[in-house]
Amino acid sequence: MSSTSQPVSAAAAGAAQDSGRPAPPQPGKLTFVAPRRAKPPRHLADLTSAERRAAVAELGEKPFRADQLSRHYFARLTDDPAQMTDLPAAVRDRLAAELLPELLTSVRTLDCDGGTTRKTLWRAFDGTLLESVLMRYPDRVTMCVSSQAGCGMNCPFCATGQAGLTRNLSTAEIVEQVAAGARALARGQLAGGPGRVSNIVFMGMGEPLANYKAVLGAVRRITDPAPHGLGISQRSVTVSTVGLVPAIEKLAAEGLSVRLAVSLHAPDDELRDELVPINTRWKVREVLDAAWAYADRTGRRVSIEYAMIKDVNDQAWRADLLGRLLKGHLVHVNLIPLNPTPGSKWTASRPRDEREFVARLEAHGVPVTVRDTRGREIDGACGQLAAATE
Ligand code: SAH
Repeated sequence: MSSTSQPVSAAAAGAAQDSGRPAPPQPGKLTFVAPRRAKPPRHLADLTSAERRAAVAELGEKPFRADQLSRHYFARLTDDPAQMTDLPAAVRDRLAAELLPELLTSVRTLDCDGGTTRKTLWRAFDGTLLESVLMRYPDRVTMCVSSQAGCGMNCPFCATGQAGLTRNLSTAEIVEQVAAGARALARGQLAGGPGRVSNIVFMGMGEPLANYKAVLGAVRRITDPAPHGLGISQRSVTVSTVGLVPAIEKLAAEGLSVRLAVSLHAPDDELRDELVPINTRWKVREVLDAAWAYADRTGRRVSIEYAMIKDVNDQAWRADLLGRLLKGHLVHVNLIPLNPTPGSKWTASRPRDEREFVARLEAHGVPVTVRDTRGREIDGACGQLAAATE
């Protein structure tokens, strides 16, 4: 395998931005700094409760109108201003135009798994495409959201990674994916009847910790109690990262109890440098140390994500090495059978190699599960979220 990875130079990436023109996405390259693009219009979900009141006051309306608007958006999941009848019509139209712009337009929805999995392809205000996936399980409904359009981390087995990074999503663009999923579910559009979104995973397109500020804002809006936010428990939110160590440290200090998932995929630097190119900047040891510090600080078990790739990272000796690195820590391993991306030379591990890998981790006392891969037929499964519609 030829690795095109190179140490990230934030300064170099930044310098490319100074021409005034938006830089095109750079497939095949580790891109740390998101291209500068026109910002999405301001939306209620971008703002804290206090900022919403200030924004409403600036528009010449009584601050309590902000709370009414929030109740509609976050608690009642109303997206049609005509239904906000506790607001006088003129006020309603004005506030909706200023604070509830339509951020995402559904381009296509695809259902599979008997209608219990639904992928939505969204178009943002500037034509940018992104995807989210809603998945119903017997005990929960999980929404998988995108934090960036595209991704700059360039992991060679991931479809999103192949296309490069288009731009960061705004807080409201992330929250709106969840709100839209919650509305669809409340209206009974997912098989199994009306329900509520219980879990959020930042496992769609993008590297959440490379869009830290917007993602943190989204986590707060998603978990703030209604009507200030969507009222989903912090413990039911998972932020998944390739291992941006300073950002993991920052997240640990936020006083949140969200779950951290680390996409490890290899226990040794030599292989991880290729599978997760950011490893050339932060090594396995450093990433795991940051993960253990996160677990200490939050009391939350860290998830280690490990895509099982046949004859690449699934050898018994690598399971042993992984077991030795993880044993004794507050950790859980999620093995993900590789979903081969189009044209990929890699495929999922043989069942017997997978079983052996599981057995070796268990022998080290490390809890492990094999993830069921929802949404395969609709390219909605792990690593498949690369919008093909242009
Ligand atoms: N950037 C974040 C979120 C990305 S997607 C991260 O890397 O963690 C969520 C998970 O799906 C990651 O663990 C990612 O490595 C994994 N993944 C990506 N492509 C995959 C594929 N083709 N098969 C299986 N898992 C994949």
